[in-house]
Amino acid sequence: MLDERYIDDVFTAFSKKLEEIGSPLPSVSLIAEEDKDPYKVLVSTLISLRTKDEVTAEASRRLFAIAPDINTLSSLDPETIAETIKPAGFYKRKGIQLRVIAEIIINDYNGIVPDDMEELLALPGVGMKTASLVLNLGYGVDAICVDCHVHQIVNRLGWVCTKTPEETERKLREILPRRFWIPINDLFVRYGQKVCKPVSPFCSQCPEKEACPKTGVTRMR
Ligand code: SF4
Repeated sequence: MLDERYIDDVFTAFSKKLEEIGSPLPSVSLIAEEDKDPYKVLVSTLISLRTKDEVTAEASRRLFAIAPDINTLSSLDPETIAETIKPAGFYKRKGIQLRVIAEIIINDYNGIVPDDMEELLALPGVGMKTASLVLNLGYGVDAICVDCHVHQIVNRLGWVCTKTPEETERKLREILPRRFWIPINDLFVRYGQKVCKPVSPFCSQCPEKEACPKTGVTRMR
């Protein structure tokens, strides 16, 4: 298990740095903060895939204005959903996908978004990240949502030595104290977007620059 005080220090240092440079919460988290509705977390996370944060927030709000719940979403045709979330990435494909998911949830789950990892992963187009965020932000379940930023940063920090986000998620469950499971995603995603960038991180500006082994970093600024 990682030392709790050390993790606390890293979380505090990263948060302060992000405050300094003015990094807003990701749009899905903002939506979840306004309304802890698993339906809205699921839909906005699916919209967010391959889509800029600002676009996700606006596209999600437009869709929730005409489809505030899963029943109304299932009554919309895929073209209307697509036009409403445009210019989100792959909006046409997402229009079809959201409609199919709405139908499955109504028919198989009585209109309630599943709160089970396996059931969520069985929905078309739902991967580990989306399922974890639904559990995490929608149901308040202690799931660790590991996307490419979380995976890369914890490897650079030397907390894990893993090849895939799935492996990282399993390892973090063993070594990360539980109270950090939910906040790690928001914090590390923003940190990865602003400071610990995938290619050439800004190590010179990072409060962890002395302690971090920078595992796998070949170029830095
Ligand atoms: S020192 Fe560099 S590699 Fe390590 S966490 Fe900071 S930005 Fe990332």
